[in-house]
Amino acid sequence: MRALCWNGVNDLQVETVPDPEIINPHDAILRVTMSTTCGSDLHFIDGYIPTMRKGDVIGHEFMGEVVEIGHEVKKVKKGDRVVVPSFIVCGACWYCQHGLYSLCDNTNPNAELQEPVLGYPTAGIYGYTHAFGGYAGAHAQYVRVPYADNDCFRVPEGLRDEQVIFLSDAVPTGFMGADFCNIQPGDTIAVWGCGGVGLMAIQSAYLLGAERVIAIDRFPERLQMAKEKAGAETINYTEVDSVLEALKEMTGGRGPDGCIDAVGMEAHGTGVDYMYDRAKQALRFHTDRGESLRQAIMACRKGGTLSILGVYGLMDKFPIGVIMNKGLTVRSAQQHGQKYVPRLLDYVQKGQLDPSYLATHHFPLEEAPVGYAIFKHKEDGCVRAVFKP
Ligand SMILES: [Zn+2]
Ligand SMILES: [Zn+2]
Repeated sequence: MRALCWNGVNDLQVETVPDPEIINPHDAILRVTMSTTCGSDLHFIDGYIPTMRKGDVIGHEFMGEVVEIGHEVKKVKKGDRVVVPSFIVCGACWYCQHGLYSLCDNTNPNAELQEPVLGYPTAGIYGYTHAFGGYAGAHAQYVRVPYADNDCFRVPEGLRDEQVIFLSDAVPTGFMGADFCNIQPGDTIAVWGCGGVGLMAIQSAYLLGAERVIAIDRFPERLQMAKEKAGAETINYTEVDSVLEALKEMTGGRGPDGCIDAVGMEAHGTGVDYMYDRAKQALRFHTDRGESLRQAIMACRKGGTLSILGVYGLMDKFPIGVIMNKGLTVRSAQQHGQKYVPRLLDYVQKGQLDPSYLATHHFPLEEAPVGYAIFKHKEDGCVRAVFKP
């Protein structure tokens, strides 16, 4: 089959690789109908996250048709059209039983690569480094889905691929970020980053009852989308002296009740902190630039909630004293997609949520390297590039 392979830092190529096979009776094989780029892919494409190997098939957000199942697969049938969350989960361990799916104890065979860094291993992800299990990714004609009964969600009739594909990651991640804020009637939520996850966090905050959502970014076309498609008020941080002051002004001096960071380690900024972070990151002294997260910590109202969705590794100058003195609640996770996807499919089916506008750029799989280049540089207003094998 054809698949998009990582062959080194900033070196992606579509190649012919062996077809996936059923290797465990709980597996299914999917014929991929659509997959999408994700900001977190850029971290290993650029070489900031290690444990990639030459020839790895990448891609962790996808949907498709079930073409083969192992003999222990009971709920999923051949011919089912399904969407699959990025994290592979067993459904049976203590973490899965408690809805903490991305922390599943049974799906990362390379625990020894994560334990020195995290203390305990997370679940595995498709196409996302050997530290996250070394599973083949989904920018391919076919993909193996382990634990198919837990991880495949049947798509209701009548929905297009573009409406459903983002339920693989961006939608449940954004929704979880809003859910973490424990939104009460009248709440104002601020969201840093208007990429796919940020836009979905904005819409989710409204679905969960927020009165106002304020979006912060620097790209005018993304802020426009946040306003028009997601109904947010907006701040372009390159056009204000201080995001903190702007947010204070917009909230009668109190600050947002919940702050969602949907940016992560490649955050851009304008201040001295940012210049310092950028220089250090370029020299690999530390991995993360944390401008947006520090802004969120400062801007959050006293006693508010900080919800971290951006992907981070290590960061210095993390203002834990601000969190402590202001009594913030910090919540964070990689997406617990399996917990949210049924509810999200329901929203999409009822027309309460239509994430299809995130698919700004379409490419055949063969042109995936071009798609990633446009996505990476945010050219031409690209929010997400989607691929059809
Ligand atoms: Zn993703
Ligand atoms: Zn599990």
